[in-house]
Amino acid sequence: MDQNQFETVIGLEVHVQLRTESKIFCACSTEFAQPPNTNVCPVCAGYPGVLPVLNRAVLALAVRVASAFGCTVQESIYFERKNYFYPDLPKNYQISQYKVPLGKNGGVELETGRTICVERVHLEEDAGKLTHKEGGSLVDLNRAGTPLLEIVSMPDIRSPREAFEYLRTLKMILQYIEASDCDMEKGSLRCDANISLRRRGEERLGTKVELKNMNSFRGVRDALTHEQERQKEVLCAGRTVVQETRLWNVDRQRTESMRTKEEAHDYRYFPDPDLPDFSVPDELIAREAARVGELPLARKKRFAERYSLDEGQLEVLVGQKALGDFFEAALKYYSQPREIAKWIIGPFLEQVNALPQGMRGVSISSQNFAKIVQYFSEGKLNNLAAKKVLATAVLSTQDVDEIIREQGLEQISGEDELAGYVRDIISEQQEAVSQYLSGKTQAVMFLVGQVMKKTRGNANPKKVKALFEKELEKKRS
Ligand SMILES: [Zn+2]
Repeated sequence: MDQNQFETVIGLEVHVQLRTESKIFCACSTEFAQPPNTNVCPVCAGYPGVLPVLNRAVLALAVRVASAFGCTVQESIYFERKNYFYPDLPKNYQISQYKVPLGKNGGVELETGRTICVERVHLEEDAGKLTHKEGGSLVDLNRAGTPLLEIVSMPDIRSPREAFEYLRTLKMILQYIEASDCDMEKGSLRCDANISLRRRGEERLGTKVELKNMNSFRGVRDALTHEQERQKEVLCAGRTVVQETRLWNVDRQRTESMRTKEEAHDYRYFPDPDLPDFSVPDELIAREAARVGELPLARKKRFAERYSLDEGQLEVLVGQKALGDFFEAALKYYSQPREIAKWIIGPFLEQVNALPQGMRGVSISSQNFAKIVQYFSEGKLNNLAAKKVLATAVLSTQDVDEIIREQGLEQISGEDELAGYVRDIISEQQEAVSQYLSGKTQAVMFLVGQVMKKTRGNANPKKVKALFEKELEKKRS
């Protein structure tokens, strides 16, 4: 059978942790990496008789996400209990949304021009965390009750590569609107995938397999690629795909059967009687929609049109919202987009990436940054000196002019001052001078080097070279 007769159909379920200070139904902190069971109270520990109260900030962020994806926010909101037993879920149910999700029918536009429909976004609480050790398992409830938003795509994705692109775009949007930090290492973004194959032209979906345990976007792509090939082989051999959940084994680079999938009815969903129905106020929807602002794809198009940057520059500047903001702020003080971009992507990012907090650890104002780039472009600072000033300025609010004065880094460009150095060196370095005069003109670079040494690197080397040539040619005649 021809392998190309199959079309791949993928849907993704993404769980993101919403960026709030406290949990979804209690006031416990959501801070990561705290000692086990310290961010816990009777509500999130599942004591009987306690009452959950919805965190207003969670609702606001969820509405913002729904708005960014163009989802319709449902009029009447309520929560349901999803019943199952697991040692990290002391209540024996998870508060979630089932029949009526917070938002419905949105989409994520990819750079390729394709739009992946977002079927639903719904709120739920996270469970605790189990650590399996020799002799037993440890339960940490710090994560229990952390607010999660589940984002479910329609089965619109047609290749593992497109799944990767969708995730990348989704993450960037969530970071732009400050809804989640999307840090997969901390578990604040998790992804499960459904994949099935069908014959081209066929409308009916094939039997799907759910994939879990992918710890990176690349892991998702690799797991889907492996699973796609596995299903092709099964179908080509005339066998049928079994509906099941499979785990991605990253060490062996293959998916492995875990269990057959539960059906929704196994969870016995029913409305949580402890949380009343409510409707999301129109003002809140309007306010959060206004906070969405410009999304990454729109920004990329705008930057490309307005600043004529190349693709690599655009990728970097749009990839992190704070970086793009800084770029545009600096342009207000020195309107040379390509120069500013070059200095941000090169020396500036080098400094930023060395900071544990990244852009959030930066103190330099966009005005001070623009000044450094301008001074370099105008020859007031040479490359080395500009980088030195930047290294100090990144962590400071001190004016750049002051830093330059303090560090004695101003480039010497004055003809008279430089001519003095040149004459001194000519009388000190007779050997190099005669070499030059006998035709070895490259000896001039040695002489320039001597002036640079004397001025501790602050002389303008181009001007020094020109002055040497002028003086030495005079001697020749
Ligand atoms: Zn709590």
